[in-house]
Amino acid sequence: MPLRKQEPRPSRQCANHWIPASAGIQSPIHKIIFTKTCYAAAMSDPICPAPKHKICIIFGTRPEAIKMFPLVHALRDMPGVETRVAVTAQHRDLLDQVLDIAGIAPDIDLDLMTAGQSLDELSARILTQLGAALDAEKPDRVVVHGDTLTTMMATIAAYFRKIPVAHVEAGLRSGNIYSPWPEEVNRRVTGQIADLHFAPTPAAADALRAENIPDSAIHITGNTVIDALLATQAHIAANPALAAGLDALAARFAGKRLIVVTSHRRENFGQGMAAIARAIARIAARSDVAVIFPVHPNPAVRPVMEDMLAGYANVALIDPLDYPHFVRLLSMADIVLTDSGGVQEEAPSLGKPVLVMRDTTERPEGVAAGTARLVGTNEDGIVTGIFTLLDDKAAYAAMAAAHNPFGDGKAAQKIARILADVHQHAAQG
Ligand code: UDP
Repeated sequence: MPLRKQEPRPSRQCANHWIPASAGIQSPIHKIIFTKTCYAAAMSDPICPAPKHKICIIFGTRPEAIKMFPLVHALRDMPGVETRVAVTAQHRDLLDQVLDIAGIAPDIDLDLMTAGQSLDELSARILTQLGAALDAEKPDRVVVHGDTLTTMMATIAAYFRKIPVAHVEAGLRSGNIYSPWPEEVNRRVTGQIADLHFAPTPAAADALRAENIPDSAIHITGNTVIDALLATQAHIAANPALAAGLDALAARFAGKRLIVVTSHRRENFGQGMAAIARAIARIAARSDVAVIFPVHPNPAVRPVMEDMLAGYANVALIDPLDYPHFVRLLSMADIVLTDSGGVQEEAPSLGKPVLVMRDTTERPEGVAAGTARLVGTNEDGIVTGIFTLLDDKAAYAAMAAAHNPFGDGKAAQKIARILADVHQHAAQG
């Protein structure tokens, strides 16, 4: 099995706790946030005779890593649990950015990303290679997140081996199998197999009940992205150097209304992306605005944006940011324009009006709270949506109240506790 970047297991370990391999990583945010608690748990409990419950957390992309790192750390602090982290690296660089910041060195790294990978090819490789990894690891439980190909194929690989699956961020539904595509179906298939469903909101729990998932299998926990966001915000406040790479852009655009853009959705590739680029060009024609756009490396995104927007002095097309820098960027924004799922959850927590460049959303809570609005990928719709927020103070104020429909920052703790309890109850017969 190809293993990448696996660190030597620590020499001091007991039955239930071990010093995570990541404890040696010299990442500033990791040192501050996480190492102390994991290390202390391991060192203060040198003899722990109870049998360990081996949980394998599997993910492969940047958003999954952001949303799973709080859970990895919460589980590593949980007595009676041995946590293994397996990554497919369906995305390579963007995933590594988060792993480094969060101080997680995967135990298994399949390093599966290839240039121009098709959905078929990638699915087949994830299934066979994760299957082999599960055969070697023999976990008692697999934990997956959300809606990626890694999520669905890991779930199927576990099912083939009769390993129970817990699904984090369960129950989101757009009702349209082609939007988001293929994520809506990835999520639904996972929900059919999982025996534990961690729904971030009551609406997500209702969607699961409507599909006949038993109530006893559903837990409303909040979304772990809020855990990641709040922890990261607090640590930037304590140590601004974590996100100081934005100082120059902040100074350059001081006094302008700042619009932060992200766009990478597969169903927006082609005409949608071109319309988004034209809309940004029209918005950037105003001298009172600046646009900062961390551009996704996908070849269907970057060249389109560079061709249309390179000549605008008030548009900064920048490389994807690591998580602390992106959290700071969101905090600086006046308006967020995005087709991302995770950003739709983060922006309402920060009180930032968010215009969603999609026709449907599986995250209606932001829209219901009044912080988010769907504008699709129609050029005029995007421009009108932005100009209304720029020019109509009442419309802006109505959308700018902070809401936290997605959680209270304690989701990872709740999920880790439930996972440990489920094991304990099973062990007690
Ligand atoms: N994000 C980031 N750096 C960036 C852009 C986004 O760290 O330059 C984070 C963002 O805060 C959110 C996540 O990436 O938590 C969203 O990822 P993406 O939009 O790729 O995926 P989606 O959420 O749509 O699945």
